[in-house]
Amino acid sequence: MNATSITLPKMKPASFDVERIRGDFPILHQQVHGKPLVYLDNAASAQKPRAVIDAIKHYYENDHANIHRGVHALSERATALYDEARIKVQKFIGAPCLRELIFTRGATEAINLVAQTFGRVHVHAGDEVILTALEHHSNIVPWQVLCWEKHAHLRVVPVTDAGELRLDELEKMINPATKIIAVAHVSNALGTVNPIQKIIDLAHKHGVYVLIDGAQATPHLAVDVRELDCDFYVFSGHKVYGPTGIGALYGKPQHLELMPPYQTGGDMISYVSFAKTTWNELPYKFEAGTPNIAGAIGLAAAVDYIDAIGKDMIAAHEHKLLEYATERVAAIPGVRIIGTAKEKASVLSFIVNDPPMSALDVGTRLDLDGVAIRTGHHCCQPLMERFGIAGTARASFAMYNTIEEVDVLADTLEKIVASARPRVVVSTNGQPIYPEPVADNPQQAADEIAEFFDAVDDWAEKYQYLIDIGGKLAPMPEVLKTEPNRVKRCQSTVFMHARTRPGTADVIEFLADSDADIVRGELALLQKLYCGQRAAEILAFDIQGFMERIGLERNLSPGRRTGLSEMIARVKHYAGQVAQKSSK
Ligand code: PMP
Repeated sequence: MNATSITLPKMKPASFDVERIRGDFPILHQQVHGKPLVYLDNAASAQKPRAVIDAIKHYYENDHANIHRGVHALSERATALYDEARIKVQKFIGAPCLRELIFTRGATEAINLVAQTFGRVHVHAGDEVILTALEHHSNIVPWQVLCWEKHAHLRVVPVTDAGELRLDELEKMINPATKIIAVAHVSNALGTVNPIQKIIDLAHKHGVYVLIDGAQATPHLAVDVRELDCDFYVFSGHKVYGPTGIGALYGKPQHLELMPPYQTGGDMISYVSFAKTTWNELPYKFEAGTPNIAGAIGLAAAVDYIDAIGKDMIAAHEHKLLEYATERVAAIPGVRIIGTAKEKASVLSFIVNDPPMSALDVGTRLDLDGVAIRTGHHCCQPLMERFGIAGTARASFAMYNTIEEVDVLADTLEKIVASARPRVVVSTNGQPIYPEPVADNPQQAADEIAEFFDAVDDWAEKYQYLIDIGGKLAPMPEVLKTEPNRVKRCQSTVFMHARTRPGTADVIEFLADSDADIVRGELALLQKLYCGQRAAEILAFDIQGFMERIGLERNLSPGRRTGLSEMIARVKHYAGQVAQKSSK
């Protein structure tokens, strides 16, 4: 096979064959917790077809060398592949010419690049940058930082209850101080397809530049930046079935030419001397250092794959999935869909509010049945605040998902909601009741808990144990749910309040609460280990070893592990303070 031999047939299939497509994605054919995987977390990252995996493997096995300036065959082949990748990605978004297509690490880096170069040149004190309420943090924070630096102001276009942008407000907002509008093509949290053509036309009428965050649009919609006439368009490779760590920035050449470099170093220069350095031509001016060559090749293979199937076919299939999923999920009593815009793409966000159930619990329970969704704020905290919610559960669809998978999602969700019980609120007349110790020391408590965990193989049963003990968590009075008692870096809202047991110098006890049942279970587990125990024993106990022994380490997602570590750190920090004081 030569360097460029991995291509797909140019003939588009006459009809959309989802089973054939599924056959191209090796990762989909596995079981999770004993159930067939139903992968509905595509808005976070899409899976990779064999064509992408093979292209990367083939490159590393046959063609890898550093690109540009190489005089040997491998470097020439790698350079040719990298250049060819750029042409494919350029065509993918309709960029008129190669100089306008810059490879970046992803959408985030592309936005930072524009904010820190174009933004720095064009935004000055008193100027305004317009964003919208539904932006991803990646399209908020770079602009916020720019505005801080430049003493400029952020303005935010509000959204309706359906999750649609208020264009009337945008129109009123634009004024001579407005310099840039940065807006998502498709909302990652709600699925709203924004009327970006209208926004671009409106902005240009007033001499305002526009950056489009296309991270969620490129997997689903045909994009033509020339037709859109936007000033910048960004997207990430991993959401279009390509590898992580690669993405692209399109910019109009007149902007790119005038923008200062983002990063400096090798490859982005034309000539370097200690007295003076000049920049390379476009697009290399913005690609300092050895680029992600394999990433670009993988992304090109992904683009080829999408083209071979056809964006229209993909969009029609995903639309059918979204419509059906919306109908099924909306029919489940107690579930509310968040984001009901007329134009949507591939994202179904919802909350369970009767009885109230945290998104984290919904996601964790779906995972036990093999259904992978995302929960939380989806990097859109301002948008969650707009809707007065902590987060949502989000199912997002890709070309390889099926109607049967939507049925699994809806049936499982129906079962989960039907089994949800309203939380029993135990009245303590405002008096906190701290739990009694369950054993003489943490190790003894750990051995008792481990006995149960050792006896059952099934993670679902262990999970249920945590839910059960979480259900009996000692109530925490509302007055103790203060900001200092809030545990940071958790996926749900968690409070902990520790004290030394009255009448003792070093016996520790604590109250805790969370809106997620699974987290309440973890907190109850920690109470069993630590409450009523001496600070020194708490510090000496090998909690990490215990977590590994009972398999909690293996079964918790990295996000949950972080939250649990924070809770443990709180108790240990307090125990450390108490131990120090009592040893004086
Ligand atoms: N914008 C939107 C709308 C997104 O959904 C994402 C990814 N969730 C990003 C930007 C950031 O993309 P990346 O993390 O790949 O840079």
